[in-house]
Amino acid sequence: MNFPPGHPARDTQDTLVVANQERRPLRDRLLLRTHTSPVQMRTMEQQPPPVRIVIPGKVHRNDAADATHSPIFHQVEGLCVDRNITFSDLKGTLDHAMKALFGSAVKTRFFPSFFPFTEPSADVQISCIFCGGKGCRKCKQSGWIELLGCGMVDPAVFAFAQEKQPAYDPKKISGFAFGMGVERIAMMKYGISEMGSLFAGDMRFLGQFV
Ligand SMILES: [Zn+2]
Repeated sequence: MNFPPGHPARDTQDTLVVANQERRPLRDRLLLRTHTSPVQMRTMEQQPPPVRIVIPGKVHRNDAADATHSPIFHQVEGLCVDRNITFSDLKGTLDHAMKALFGSAVKTRFFPSFFPFTEPSADVQISCIFCGGKGCRKCKQSGWIELLGCGMVDPAVFAFAQEKQPAYDPKKISGFAFGMGVERIAMMKYGISEMGSLFAGDMRFLGQFV
């Protein structure tokens, strides 16, 4: 969404392409999606605002597997579009979600970042759930852990949606979006040290979460 060709942000979308498609035109070749964000645009093209959705789904990246990376993982994205949606709504929603996930003592803080489909964009950190913010090995002594990305929907994204749904007028509506990795959150919440354990299909491991 809203990625110009050649933009360096495309490097993180390096993905896996399905083999034996050389005879098909380039735009018809199948590949494994790197994020769930295209669902945002498809939803807006199909329905007028207001929109409030969460988008869970499997994604793929050309990443080597190690303790904290996997070529397969799952994302949950959220999108909220309506009149008068502000950055305060975004902060309040994510602060509430982090407290629901990790306990009411958890604090959140927001740092400027960049994503092609939100402006402004932010990285969200939560106070370290292992040391309560004092500083430990898991939070590299900072007291904070970076957990998700978010931002206000870029007006250019609404302009694309407006081609099919005129109600997405960037002058009249606003919205926020966020995205996080399901495995990363599960690993923190349950103290899992190897991401691969979640995909190995070993019932002795999976059974403990039933
Ligand atoms: Zn810590």
